Amino acid sequence: MSVTVRFAPSPTGFIHIGNARTALFNWLFAKKHGGRFVLRFDDTDVARSKAEYADQIEKDLAWLGIRPDLAVRQSDRFALYDAAVEKLKAAGLLYPCWETAEELERRRKIRLSRRLPPVYGREALRLTQEEKAAREAEGRRPHWRFLLPNFSDDPFSPVRTEVHWDDLVRGPQTVDLASMSDPVLVREDGSYLYTLPSVVDDIELGISHVIRGDDHVTNTGAQIALFRALQAAPPAFGHHNLLTAVSGEGLSKRSGALSIMSLAGEGIEPMAVASLAVLIGTSESVSAARSMDALAERFDPAATSKSAAKFDPAELAALNRTLVHAMPFVEAEERLAALGIAGDKAEPFWLAVRGNLDRVADAGPWWRIVREGPREKPALSAEDAAFVSAAFDALPPEPWDATTWKLWTDRVKAATGRKGRALFMPLRLALTGRERGPELADLLPLLGREGTLARRP
Ligand code: GLU
Repeated sequence: MSVTVRFAPSPTGFIHIGNARTALFNWLFAKKHGGRFVLRFDDTDVARSKAEYADQIEKDLAWLGIRPDLAVRQSDRFALYDAAVEKLKAAGLLYPCWETAEELERRRKIRLSRRLPPVYGREALRLTQEEKAAREAEGRRPHWRFLLPNFSDDPFSPVRTEVHWDDLVRGPQTVDLASMSDPVLVREDGSYLYTLPSVVDDIELGISHVIRGDDHVTNTGAQIALFRALQAAPPAFGHHNLLTAVSGEGLSKRSGALSIMSLAGEGIEPMAVASLAVLIGTSESVSAARSMDALAERFDPAATSKSAAKFDPAELAALNRTLVHAMPFVEAEERLAALGIAGDKAEPFWLAVRGNLDRVADAGPWWRIVREGPREKPALSAEDAAFVSAAFDALPPEPWDATTWKLWTDRVKAATGRKGRALFMPLRLALTGRERGPELADLLPLLGREGTLARRP
C-alpha cells in the first residue's frame, strides 16, 4: 500500500514541541515507507485561525526539516464538505436538532439519575414535520447530528456496536458506538466542527495512515463510522501519547512558551528538538540523533508508551549541548559567519571552542576573546602577574601548533617550580579572562605569539 500521511494543525497559535511530535511521527513514518506527507491547515474556525500562525507553522516545520509534499487549507475546501453533508442528508444519516445547551444538560442529568448512559437520546429524531417547520418558522436554525450506526431497527434502542482498529501505536482498539452521542457535525451558524471536514479530506487526499495524539482515540470510533457512511474505506490509525509540562499540565498552543519558534530563537538545534519530541515517552533511550535519517532508524511508533510523557526543558538543553559539542564545522559555518566568525581561523577556532558551548551562538564571545583579548584586565595578584610576565618571556618562537602549549608550560614549570592549578590558572586568566573554557593548547595557536604577548599583565 502506498503511504500518505498528514499533519493537521489548526492555525490558532504557534506549534509547540507536542505538536512537533505529531508532525515528526508522521514525517518519519512517511520517510520509512517512502510515502507522502500532506500539511493540512484545519482552519474552518475562521474567527480563531490566522494566516500569520499558518505561515509560522510552515516555517517551523521547515526548520525541523519537514518538507510537505502538499499543503492545503480547509477554508479552501468548503464545497467538498457541503457535498458530503448533502450526501449524508440524502442517506438519512444527518438530522437536524434544535436543543439548546441548557436543554441538553437537563436531559443529561435526568438520564444519569435514571442510570442511563449520559448520551444524546435522539429526541430530535422524533420531531414531526410540523414540529420542525414550526421551529424553522420561528427563525431557529438547527445544528446537525450524524446518526451513528449503533442500532438494528430502532434508533431509540441502541445496542453495543464495536468498532475495531489495530492502532499503529496502541495495538488493537475497540470503541463502542452505543457509548457515545451522535456527534454534531454542523453548528447552528452553519460552521463545521472538526469531525466531518477531517474525514472528507482524509478520503479526498488519499490519506492511508492517520497519526495523531491520543486525545483523538474516541473520535476515531465515530470517524470510522463516518468513513463508512461516505462509502470510503477508513485509513489506518495511530494515536501517540501526549506530552505534558514537568508539572503534568498539558502544553498549550496559546502560551507562546515552548513554541518551536521560541526554541529556534533561543538557539536550540532542530535535531535536539526533533530527537526529544520523537524519543521521549518511548522505550528508546532519549539521546540526540544527528540527522533525520538517523532518527528515522530509531523511530518505532509501536515503542511509544501509552501514558503521557513529561517534557523537561533541561533534557532539551542537554541534547543540544551534545549536538553542539560534536558539530562539524561545515554544519556551523553559515551561522558562525553570521556572527562574524569567518576566515581561515574560523574552523580551528570552532573545533577549539565547540566542546564548551551550550549553543552555537555562544561561540561569539569566545571569538571576541581570541581576537581582542579579555574584555577587562584579569584580576591577578601581584605575584601571579609577575609569574605570568616571566612565563611570557619564555614563549617559544613561532610557528605554533597544538604542541606549543605543552612545550611552553614544561619550560615554565622547570623554570618556576609551579605546577597544576597554580601554573595554569594565572595563564588561563591572563589569556582569556575566564577561569574555565576551551583547552589552552587549542587556543594558543589561534592567539599567536603577538596576540599572546599583547595579554601581558
Ligand atoms: N486539527 C486537529 C487537531 O489539531 C487534527 C486532528 C487530526 O489529526 O485528525 O487536533
